[in-house]
Amino acid sequence: MTPPVAQFAEPAPSGPRTACRVAAIETTIVDCPTTRRHKLSNTEISFQSYVLVRVILADGSTGWGEASTLGGPRWAEESVEAIKANIDTYLAPALEGANALDFELNALTMAKAATRNTAARAAVDAALHDAAGQSLGLPVATLLGGAVRDRIEVLWALASGDAEQEIEEARAKLAAREHRRFKIKLGFHAPADDMARLAKIVNAIGPQATEIVVDVNQGWSEATAIRYLPRLAEMGVALIEQPLRPGLIEATARVARRSQIPIMVDEAAFTGPEIMANGVAAAGSVYSLKLVKSGGLQEIRRAAAIAEACGMELYGGCLIESGIGAAAHLAAFSTLPRLEWGCEHFGPKILKTDLTRGEIRFADYAVHLPQGPGLGITVDEEALARAARKG
Ligand code: MN
Repeated sequence: MTPPVAQFAEPAPSGPRTACRVAAIETTIVDCPTTRRHKLSNTEISFQSYVLVRVILADGSTGWGEASTLGGPRWAEESVEAIKANIDTYLAPALEGANALDFELNALTMAKAATRNTAARAAVDAALHDAAGQSLGLPVATLLGGAVRDRIEVLWALASGDAEQEIEEARAKLAAREHRRFKIKLGFHAPADDMARLAKIVNAIGPQATEIVVDVNQGWSEATAIRYLPRLAEMGVALIEQPLRPGLIEATARVARRSQIPIMVDEAAFTGPEIMANGVAAAGSVYSLKLVKSGGLQEIRRAAAIAEACGMELYGGCLIESGIGAAAHLAAFSTLPRLEWGCEHFGPKILKTDLTRGEIRFADYAVHLPQGPGLGITVDEEALARAARKG
């Protein structure tokens, strides 16, 4: 009697699937000093804290992922301490016996094991992709559908809050041909003082800079935003990021309607439905993509598709990741059909010591996609040991 046809073949005793069985998932908290203080509307940092995830496969291949935070659980709910605890206690055990090649299944398993926790899930997900790529000898970008670009124009953030220092910093970046687009953080001084600081910077670097973006990090009310829209337009600002608090969709939509400058949605939208709600309400016409928001590499590509379907343009956002997290973002960004606003993965350059060995190149105003299997980076284990949190 012939057996039924719709049977799955027994897994082969050797081959890529056997090689890619997950053998171990390890986490480390690191604290990396930055070259200068970095201010946001509600926080200020002089070092960056990450959780690094190392995945080891049955064939010995190793993959890395990184969860970034900004000054504790302030930019979002997750802190490095919570991320490490939730990976060690919930995500890693849920993936016991998993296969790194089952990208979507592993993402689902993690989503069931931990609600939200998108930074934690994204870090493990990136490490699984890197490890699988290392084992197969293929770049993560290839696993995600293939790169359509090998470099992305990259902006630099000015966020010390001191106009003179910021002008000097911007001039150095322009002279080195590293950056010609700048993001200026607003919302931590009184709005009038922020405007005066912005005007100074724009006057000094405006002619050389091709684009000035402002990021308010939720620091304004609708009234303040409306009051300053004409000034921002006069100064030639190209993009206004997250002026109001998340959840104020209608108010932000009213600001957007009155603004000549496009509004970018960042903290207001993590999930697909949140992106959709902001896009449909026209509370922004640009979306900032981040792994800490989307929770994984497959999911960030879906986030891009949802934003695009709402008519939004795309921007490659960062949370000041090291070279490890930057490489994961670049792998995903390189595969997107459209990325109108380039990216901001300057993180490796603002750390006193990056955690990779310089595979991510910054030249001619662009960040260049690292080449080679997996994420294309080598982790500097000595730098990692120095930055690892003790006790
Ligand atoms: Mn932002």
